[in-house]
Amino acid sequence: MAVLQKGTLKERLLENYSGELDHSGVSGERVASRLSLLSEIGATADGGSCRIGFSREERQAKELVKSWMREAGLKVREDAAGNVIAVFAGSHPNEPVVLSGSHLDSVPNGGHFDGPLGVLCALEVAEAWKESGYQPHRSYEMIIFSDEEGARFNGGLTGSQAFTGELELQQQLKLKDGEGKPFEQVVREYGLAADRFLDAQRDLTEIAAFIEVHIEQGKVLENKDVPVGVVTGIAGPKWIKFSFKGSADHAGNTPMNDRKDALVASSWFVYELSGIPKEVSPTAVATAGKVEVFPNGINVIPGQADVYVDMRDISEASVTTLSEKIIQKAQEAAQLHGMAVEYNETLNVAPVPIQTEMQHLLLRAVEEMKLTPVLLPSGAAHDTMVLARYVPAAMLFVRSQEGISHHPDEWTTLDDCVQAVHVLKKAIESLVSR
Ligand SMILES: [Zn+2]
Repeated sequence: MAVLQKGTLKERLLENYSGELDHSGVSGERVASRLSLLSEIGATADGGSCRIGFSREERQAKELVKSWMREAGLKVREDAAGNVIAVFAGSHPNEPVVLSGSHLDSVPNGGHFDGPLGVLCALEVAEAWKESGYQPHRSYEMIIFSDEEGARFNGGLTGSQAFTGELELQQQLKLKDGEGKPFEQVVREYGLAADRFLDAQRDLTEIAAFIEVHIEQGKVLENKDVPVGVVTGIAGPKWIKFSFKGSADHAGNTPMNDRKDALVASSWFVYELSGIPKEVSPTAVATAGKVEVFPNGINVIPGQADVYVDMRDISEASVTTLSEKIIQKAQEAAQLHGMAVEYNETLNVAPVPIQTEMQHLLLRAVEEMKLTPVLLPSGAAHDTMVLARYVPAAMLFVRSQEGISHHPDEWTTLDDCVQAVHVLKKAIESLVSR
């Protein structure tokens, strides 16, 4: 349970802000005040945020940011999927543009940085240019992608998939939210037409590069004591369901040496599973996050145990090796306990590597800010994952206290937020200046 914090988010952010990073047109106070105003939209009793994709709150948050974009003198438009795009025109507006942004939707009781930070960092670059009179050669566009988290329809990345033309509209139209409301009705109430969603598809040759700033959602940067890190690749999840088939006999009448206990076999598997990823690569992970036992009665030997395993890594080859080793281990567990195991893959999202050139671009910007360069993988999916399949894309992670995310306690210091703005600004400037 989250502890309610005293004061507004702005007050809490400014409390420990050094102010040293307020230069080159970048304002910590503006970032803090905007993060704070966004945090009040969909505020939860726990001090978190609830701005589900395609909800009134997500709409309200977009409208607020649009008003700031207009105040900054930017041209703002919304595409057919509700993605908001603001343009800082360059002196050569016909050349491919540089794009940066993130999302404003949240999970049901989320924090205040996952999404909004990336949107506000992108906007702060434009604010800084306005203040310093900087004129880019190429145009710079800021984007707010719709429904990244997917909390409503158990999907996500909806806006970025529509933007790249990857969205499977027929599949999307079949979706219903938790209250049974079809996708079509939800987006109609939001002000969009579901059958026009694919009109959001952008001519991707118009985009020179995309950069997203996002909180890390892990502890790598905190442990290394650095404010930001450059993402090397985004791990795609692969899910496999393993069903251990034992025998559901009476717990009292079946001697210990004559049992086929599916839970015992699956438990051995779950324990052994945790040692496998490190044999494959330093970035591989595997988790048995869900187990179902049948018949699930206190006096019945478990006849069947289903273990759902999530496995990830940043290269496809390594995910394949990882899954092969895990399947082998499940078969070993079943054999050792005298039963059979069945398995089937329920999800397989290919991991997306980040081009080395794009990693170097961010690393140079990190070094220019006199920060220690750190590379790290992303275990979670982001809009960058969708964009990176089509355009040169990069991702900058920002230190997240204790790695907490999707929770009201999510926290990133204002100094770290502003460092991220400066790094992003340097990287964007090197892209828009030629
Ligand atoms: Zn996010």
